[in-house]
Amino acid sequence: MREGDCKHYAGLYRAEACDAGVNLRELAGPGDGLALRLPCLKDFRDRAEAKGLPAASCPSYREPTDAEIEADRAEEEALFAESDRKMRLVMPVVAGCRKAHRGEVVDRDCPVCGAEGALRVGIASYNGHARVACKNGCVSFVE
Ligand SMILES: [Zn+2]
Repeated sequence: MREGDCKHYAGLYRAEACDAGVNLRELAGPGDGLALRLPCLKDFRDRAEAKGLPAASCPSYREPTDAEIEADRAEEEALFAESDRKMRLVMPVVAGCRKAHRGEVVDRDCPVCGAEGALRVGIASYNGHARVACKNGCVSFVE
């Protein structure tokens, strides 16, 4: 979320309805180059202007306030910190499995939620890549 962009924009994968419920495909109208016909992001508007296309407009366009930008940034930082905390707990378990259980799938106690045997760790025999997931949803990744 940043200045110059609509706070309702949630990505083109949400083209059927942004956070304000606007159908971006309908707003843009028919034709190729959906992003070039949307007013949601400064980047879209700049690219359309560079191609000499008419500016699109949306009745729900709202830029975030400074407070909303700050809250969004703080939320992202908190999410990152939480993810980092979990990885620091889980990676030693994965490293141990990589040494002792290559080519196997083993269940370990999850160091994040503490549930017995909840962390499933699979180590590929050919390259040592790990597939890791807690059945309680704490972590899930491939490395
Ligand atoms: Zn867990």
